[in-house]
Amino acid sequence: MMGVLRLSHCTTSLKGCGGEGVHPEEERRVFCQIWKFEAPSKVVAFFWELLLDRTLNRLNLAIRNILPLGECIICVCCERESETSTHLFLHCDMAKNT
Ligand SMILES: [Zn+2]
Repeated sequence: MMGVLRLSHCTTSLKGCGGEGVHPEEERRVFCQIWKFEAPSKVVAFFWELLLDRTLNRLNLAIRNILPLGECIICVCCERESETSTHLFLHCDMAKNT
């Protein structure tokens, strides 16, 4: 069965990463259905990476030792909080306005 890929699918799981709590069954359902969505494969792959928190934000780059040692991980858009997937896609004021 094909479905429609919506950002809400990702935000539901991301909210779980932020400590707001997502029902595990809902999260499992999203993970199981993501590859059935009618969207270009690279879009689906990006959503998959986002759900797994594997996107290349500054925090993940620092964790992988890709950012130079001591490099700031503050969001380059708003310069207020650490640049995490949750921040970029749910809370960053700059991203909300684009
Ligand atoms: Zn920001």
